[in-house]
Amino acid sequence: MTIQSIIRFSKVSKSFGTAQVLHEIDLNVREREVVVVCGPSGSGKSTLTRCINGLETFQTGSLRVLNHNLNAAKKNLRQLRCEVGMVFQNFNLYPHLDAIDNITLAPRLVRGTARREAEERAHALLKRVGIGDKAREFPGRLSGGQRQRLAIARSLAMDPKVMLFDEPTSALDPEMISEVLDVMGELAQAGMTMVVVTHEMGFARKVADRIVFLDSGRIVEEAEPEQFFTAPTDRRAKDFLSKIL
Ligand code: ADP
Ligand code: MG
Repeated sequence: MTIQSIIRFSKVSKSFGTAQVLHEIDLNVREREVVVVCGPSGSGKSTLTRCINGLETFQTGSLRVLNHNLNAAKKNLRQLRCEVGMVFQNFNLYPHLDAIDNITLAPRLVRGTARREAEERAHALLKRVGIGDKAREFPGRLSGGQRQRLAIARSLAMDPKVMLFDEPTSALDPEMISEVLDVMGELAQAGMTMVVVTHEMGFARKVADRIVFLDSGRIVEEAEPEQFFTAPTDRRAKDFLSKIL
């Protein structure tokens, strides 16, 4: 039996005005797979990732995510975004809500989950990401690493089938990076399907099933970590690795 691709890009191209930022992207992500996307700044990593939950549209090609056809004129973005969670570099938490309320807002509003049930679940999620003692803390009083773990917990509250991460540790002080990567590693271990934009090559090596390297809107290298790190074939991927490793 073949494992189904739950994200399927087929010749997806996107322009902002006259600037083409994605060129005929072909990419499949299977259930439970962890794909790391890397590449230079401006290469299209965020744009590619944002297409997956409909935060960006594209002009040509097709993209299927779970049961959603993202090039269809009429898209059910609300349902899609329940199924595809996203974690951003800058957390995007609600500053005026404490940790529990940050987590329970969407389940209560979108799903109609009862407060008590949503809060029980939120407490469990906070424990899972290692900040069980921060339930009534506001984001402004959390460290960067704790904020990002709260953002992950908030996404998980919707029971997503896929999680997208766009440079989740880039805004963090170095000593807080590993606490976030550890939570992501555990999520991968638990079988979550993940697309992760990151420059953390240690994480990529350890957790990714596949690494995709973007350059100027094109996938120029796609390989398993071992191959990617020891024998990249594309010159631009080699250059990139020589600069960051
Ligand atoms: P990366 O995440 O790899 O740094 P992005 O996907 O953010 O790259 O950007 C790819 C290209 O698209 C860049 O040249 C960027 O300037 C451009 N771009 C991104 N978002 C917009 C936008 N909203 N309007 C115009 N150009 C954009
Ligand atoms: Mg980006």
